[in-house]
Amino acid sequence: MTPRVLTVLGATGTIGMNTLDVVARHPGRFEVFALTGATQVDRMVEQCRAHRPRVVVMSEQAAARAVRERLAAEGLKIEVRAGADALTEVSTAPEVDSVMAAIVGAAGLPATLAAARAGKRILLANKETLVVSGQIFMDAVAASGAELLPIDSEHNAIFQALPRDFRGDFQAAGVNALWLTASGGPFRTLSAEAIAAATPAQAVAHPNWVMGRKISVDSASLMNKGLEVIEARWLFNARPDQIKVVVHPQSIVHSMVEYADGSVIAQMGTPDMRTPIAYAMGFPERIEAGVSALDLMGRELTFEAPDTTRFPCLQLAFDALAAGGNAPAVLNAANEVAVARFLDGAVPFDAIAASIAHALDNLAGGAADTLDDLLESDCRARYVTDEYLARHP
Ligand code: NAD
Ligand code: MG
Repeated sequence: MTPRVLTVLGATGTIGMNTLDVVARHPGRFEVFALTGATQVDRMVEQCRAHRPRVVVMSEQAAARAVRERLAAEGLKIEVRAGADALTEVSTAPEVDSVMAAIVGAAGLPATLAAARAGKRILLANKETLVVSGQIFMDAVAASGAELLPIDSEHNAIFQALPRDFRGDFQAAGVNALWLTASGGPFRTLSAEAIAAATPAQAVAHPNWVMGRKISVDSASLMNKGLEVIEARWLFNARPDQIKVVVHPQSIVHSMVEYADGSVIAQMGTPDMRTPIAYAMGFPERIEAGVSALDLMGRELTFEAPDTTRFPCLQLAFDALAAGGNAPAVLNAANEVAVARFLDGAVPFDAIAASIAHALDNLAGGAADTLDDLLESDCRARYVTDEYLARHP
């Protein structure tokens, strides 16, 4: 078998590390062309020892210098590049056939979109790319013939539960609706007052999944589900009313497809991101992922409606999707800024939803025809949100 040549964008993050864990389980099946990170020097050097990529990119110059020195001292001949343009170079290099897009936030957009334009097999974890530029990204995939495999566990579940030849036509496939499951996050049973007073440590303590800090806060606010609703809209060409959310605290059912004949097909498993990662990496083959088998004996699975009063971010995302245009890009950028400020301890948890609502009120409805328009909205939303949070600490 010729190995698949892989670039891992965001290799030092949670998804990146899980990806390399799957790679290590299949010697000869994958070859690592490039690994990228931002600031985590030790972890990158460790990954270089284990995976011997040809190129490393660190988006921060100082980190790139440090990695370069450390690799040279160990006699590892690996080229180290720095900066955002280098991310795009390694996601479009002719040697590469698969790109794991696992940078967090809109920072991942340029390299992920470039991989789409270059016709790569894209393993998409970076949901923010679809939220900001869904139409442009999906058009690029269609134009280049890129292959798109969802890594987000819900979308991966839906991908598995849809017919293999599904091309976005719900009627032709007899699909009524997509059901995204949500764990409800660490604040599922808390009162609105307790949620408003929650600390960063409480917000990142997710009951079922180990994830990066930003997506953990998104899970606590249900913004993660909101971003996933928008992600599903683009990945599967769904109308907003065809996307449903159900809270399922055990995170065993990863999502479901409801068909016209009353069938509901769910994908289940132990909550471990190596399952969707291995599914996408091996596709269409199923490969070992190191995940413990699901034991359902004596387990209770429960389902409840989401509460958009205590979790307004979910509603804001549905509203932004309905508004269309630049609204999802504004929502995403405002959320990124507010989550970062919350994690810094500068603003309370409920300032996240308030500042997103403020940004949408001020900026939604702006131009959204080109990528530049959307990036301009992203930029303005960051400014407006910073300013709002400085006035409402
Ligand atoms: P993480 O914070 O653990 O890792 C983020 C990675 O991105 C790191 O490698 C970091 O170095 C890199 N990075 C951060 N800022 C960067 C920048 N400005 N430029 C270049 N690189 C940068 O995050 P994660 O949990 O691995 O999530 C990554 C993506 O996958 C997110 O979009 C998230 O929504 C999505 N996702 C994650 C999970 C999960 O279980 N962790 C599940 C579904 C989807
Ligand atoms: Mg998810």
